[in-house]
Amino acid sequence: MLEPGNNGTQLVRTPGLSRFDEIDHGFFSRHGGVSQGELASLNIGTAVNDDPDLVTKNRLAIARAMGADRLAFVKQVHGKEVVVLDSAPDPSSDPLWQTNLEADAIVTNLPGVFCAIAVADCQPILLYDPEKKAVGAVHSGWRGSLQNIAAHAVEAMVQAFGCNPAGMIAAIGPSLGACCAEFIHYRTEIPEKFWKYKDEKDHFDFWAVTRDQLTAAGLEGRNIDCANICTKCTPEHFFSYRASHAAGRFAGVIGLKPA
Ligand SMILES: [Zn+2]
Repeated sequence: MLEPGNNGTQLVRTPGLSRFDEIDHGFFSRHGGVSQGELASLNIGTAVNDDPDLVTKNRLAIARAMGADRLAFVKQVHGKEVVVLDSAPDPSSDPLWQTNLEADAIVTNLPGVFCAIAVADCQPILLYDPEKKAVGAVHSGWRGSLQNIAAHAVEAMVQAFGCNPAGMIAAIGPSLGACCAEFIHYRTEIPEKFWKYKDEKDHFDFWAVTRDQLTAAGLEGRNIDCANICTKCTPEHFFSYRASHAAGRFAGVIGLKPA
């Protein structure tokens, strides 16, 4: 399931996106970084009480593993805003691009600019349009799923880059599976239209929600991959908030290779 990165990192890639030489993508395991303790070791989260210098080193390791000129981050807020990156900062500037924008998806058509999403149980969803050469990365926790952030990202790619959803490829990364996604307060937290994704033990299948949302947004079902890895079931590989509230955040990343 995990492939070695070129610098001690490990990542999961999905078949649909791996077919394209002009991009790279991956869902990075927690290994190959420098953070300590519960955050060991490739934590990229800035809001989890880690040493900022270590987080920077970890983010740089991911940028290097991807061969990225820049690795772009947003302030994730469990909302439905999408940031369109269509012009990069000065080429001599920092390889890490922490924007101040509050959003839960990043889309770009800039070669060398890789979009990064930080998660621990929330879904990292990656998007690619091979025709228009545009990519997207989405943070969809259960709150994001209820707001259909995945479709908002697809729509932003349509508006900004003229993408055609019917040709787009998607990958759902390691995240909380239905095996572990118990919502005991679902009657107050989750609208009734989502209850069809619930089993008799009050576990929700949010991977299925995402598949249905992307299909409704125009993607072909056969173009949507799911890693089918539950983070709470694999804390030895991935940070999981439900497995440990002191957990770090791992990365879902996609970008067009530098020109
Ligand atoms: Zn599980």
